[in-house]
Amino acid sequence: MRSFLEAIQAGASGEEIAAIPLPDSYRGALVRADEQEMFAGLETGEKDPRKSLHVEEVAVPELAPDEAYVAVMASSINFNTVWTSIFEPLSTFGFLKRLGKESVWGKRHDLPYHVVGSDASGVVIRVGSAVRNWKPGDRVTVHCNYVDDQDPSAHDDSMLASNQRIWGFESNFGGLADLALVKANQLMPKPAHLSWEEAAVNALCNSTSYRMLVSHNGARMKQGDVVLIWGASGGLGGYACQYVLNGGGIPVGVVSSPEKAELLHDLGVEAVIDRRAEGYRFWSDEHTQDEGEWRRFGKDVRALVGEDPSIVFEHPGRQTMGASVFVCARGGTVVTCAATSGYMIEYDNRHLWMKLKSIKSSHFANYKEAWEANRLISLGRIQPVLSAVYPLDQVGEAAYQVHHNLHEGKIGVLCLAPAEGLGIDDPAFRERVGEERITLFRRHGA
Ligand code: NDP
Repeated sequence: MRSFLEAIQAGASGEEIAAIPLPDSYRGALVRADEQEMFAGLETGEKDPRKSLHVEEVAVPELAPDEAYVAVMASSINFNTVWTSIFEPLSTFGFLKRLGKESVWGKRHDLPYHVVGSDASGVVIRVGSAVRNWKPGDRVTVHCNYVDDQDPSAHDDSMLASNQRIWGFESNFGGLADLALVKANQLMPKPAHLSWEEAAVNALCNSTSYRMLVSHNGARMKQGDVVLIWGASGGLGGYACQYVLNGGGIPVGVVSSPEKAELLHDLGVEAVIDRRAEGYRFWSDEHTQDEGEWRRFGKDVRALVGEDPSIVFEHPGRQTMGASVFVCARGGTVVTCAATSGYMIEYDNRHLWMKLKSIKSSHFANYKEAWEANRLISLGRIQPVLSAVYPLDQVGEAAYQVHHNLHEGKIGVLCLAPAEGLGIDDPAFRERVGEERITLFRRHGA
């Protein structure tokens, strides 16, 4: 892939890039099927991505007519890479097997290794014969909604497609690599004012937060809404705060340290709760929740903004869902996309039905939503939340940081890009958006 990197750095044309011979193999971060049981008997926190994630040469897969190869300049760590690397709650090799049974092209994915990663920025180097809108040389970001467009169920909201998948998690050949295999309908234009690593961290979390809060498929936030955001300085939360501020809402951010609280203040979030300092114990033991603690938390939210949140942005899951349902305003919505702390959820249903609250489920975003979310980044209205950068060969350490909640925002990973700060095509627009705003999380993470 070195010739592609040199050509990209030298500003080669699309024709020149298309003429560079493809290698037989490329460098990718992967887990191995023969190591699926390596953490058996360990607690979640003891399972170490540094032991299971390997960076190795793997064969370049064949290109289907509706696909493109992308020379990946940078990628990012998402929580799904943590899940894959600790083989929880399921080993992702089951997903690859299922995809392998679907079609001849699907069969390519069923391998004894899984190249992971659900974000990427880079340059298209080849397109399949059916690809119309993209060509070699295009600078792109990649969203992770992997959909079969011949499936009728994919044609209302593609997230409802019966075989919808997340690329690099439920499919192989993901973005934490020097080359990625993607469907053409995963491609989006790279925001020209961002570096490769700034452009690489957005698509998954930014699109998810967009759907949860802004899209008609989510909670449909409106001006003046109070929105309670768990993990407000994390990957999803960092974008959620920006959507609420942009949309005229009132964010209440929950974090777990004074440093994270300070970061949120710098982002413009005035109402912040440090959950660790407050010491909430929503569960008094493994089986019992404490309504008194829900009430204390609700009072703290009211003390900050004067009312209950009409939207609760949920993803921690078991630890917080009881409190989220309780504090949500009458008629409000708890919008949830995850369960980091456990997926067997318990809440008091009386608080839900008697106060006509709703729980709205959400999962990633369809192409249109991802495109809109990417457009907002390109317009400089949403900023990347990149806080740290690792080289690909330290991907295990990067995943470890996310697994143990040692990070803020998103961790970027340099794949082909030899250093940070490259790939900025529109420095004048960058200046207009403001270096300070673009690099807020990076400065806090430094
Ligand atoms: P991050 O780790 O970047 O952020 C999550 C934040 O949640 C942490 O910063 C932490 O903030 C907070 N948190 C963690 N545990 C708890 C807890 N027990 N109680 C309260 N807060 C907690 O992850 P992401 O934001 O990227 O992802 C969050 C979850 O969403 C993951 O499980 C991920 O898999 C899922 N996800 C789902 C998507 C989908 O499409 N369905 C898309 C993207 C992510 P603090 O300690 O400061 O409070």
